[in-house]
Amino acid sequence: MKIFKLISLREYSLFFWIILISILGILTSTIYSKNKDDQLEKIESTLENIYLKKILKEITENLEPRFTTMDYKTTTGDTHQSIINNLEINKKEKKLLLDTILKNKSLKILKVNQKFIFKFDNLLDQKVIEFRIEKDKKNEIIFKKDLSSNTFVSREIEKNFEKKLVYKETIITNSLYNSALNLGIKPNIIIEFARLYGFQVDFQRDIWKNDSFQIIYEEFINENNKVVDTGEIIFANLNLQNTDLQLYKYEYEKNKIDYFDENGKSIRKTLMKTPINGARLSSSYGKRKHPILGYTKMHTGTDFAAPMGTPIMASGDGKVTKAGWCGGGGNCVKIRHNTTYQTVYAHMSKFGRGIKKGARVKQGQIIGYVGSTGLSTGPHLHYEVIENGRKINSQKLKLPSGKILKGNDRKEFEVSKIKIDVLKSNLISQLN
Ligand SMILES: [Zn+2]
Repeated sequence: MKIFKLISLREYSLFFWIILISILGILTSTIYSKNKDDQLEKIESTLENIYLKKILKEITENLEPRFTTMDYKTTTGDTHQSIINNLEINKKEKKLLLDTILKNKSLKILKVNQKFIFKFDNLLDQKVIEFRIEKDKKNEIIFKKDLSSNTFVSREIEKNFEKKLVYKETIITNSLYNSALNLGIKPNIIIEFARLYGFQVDFQRDIWKNDSFQIIYEEFINENNKVVDTGEIIFANLNLQNTDLQLYKYEYEKNKIDYFDENGKSIRKTLMKTPINGARLSSSYGKRKHPILGYTKMHTGTDFAAPMGTPIMASGDGKVTKAGWCGGGGNCVKIRHNTTYQTVYAHMSKFGRGIKKGARVKQGQIIGYVGSTGLSTGPHLHYEVIENGRKINSQKLKLPSGKILKGNDRKEFEVSKIKIDVLKSNLISQLN
């Protein structure tokens, strides 16, 4: 939900920046025409000043436009209440919205991927002036605020849209976002794409020039052949340094949709709590007396005692950022999984095959073997989970579980996958 808000703010701050840059431009050119180069240098160095940059950043981030909108698409586990609760409005207004929605019988059952659009007037005490809820792909209900009675008036409208499947592919030249925009892909879809890959890719660091992507998604076209809405991503492939990261949309239960890789593994991956088989937890996260140093120290990881040479697995997909000597940690491996999570594995006797800085690893891949290198009293794995730069207790980690399709589910997924692959070839042949 936050993402949409950020975008509207960013657009606003861009506007602010344009004004600021033009003022500075005028200022600079005036001074330049009057004075010599040293004046210009002064201005440049002022602009480079980190403190000033920080202040400007704060100013731009604190500006908020009067009217904002927020789109939300329901996912598994949402309730009307949870959706309303996530809005930044007061309690009284939350109750009013919820009562209004629940009064409408056709909205009682919440479906996955149901679209909600809220419009806010940020000057008002009760901010929501209008909201729309999609009943199905053809109909939506609009609720307009009657300010005098402080109630919402609703009406149902029919959307007469045609669904079209679109295929796009490109090589990433600048940023993923720009490359996608240049192809005419709507921001909604780009955000969804980034969200889906967020479990395995760090968009700021993992995308390189000449990486590429392919995508199939739905568009809704009105009678004038204009795109009025986007639907869902059906398929995507992100090729990073010649590794394909594919995802297929699949409805694994009625109204339960998820995205799976080509092997039927959900892309919503959790990190493993125990990245080693047959080990015993020997020291947990928290304060303890250090076995070698002797004094009480915070233990920022979890220790698993295991025989020398026991394979250690990558606890999630990601990229190796270190495979080398870590001082007290001995031979250690560090993996960045996404923007939020990193994991560290210490005291290894040796590294797994091909494990070096920059290597991409899959969950469960062997990255090294248990040892007792560094400050260690005996063979064990010291495992750390870092969340947003902070070390956290891996045993209390709460992440969505990585579903793996099995048996009949897997068979049905394979059929659905083949259908998508055929669809993809058809769409590609239409391009040529
Ligand atoms: Zn430890």
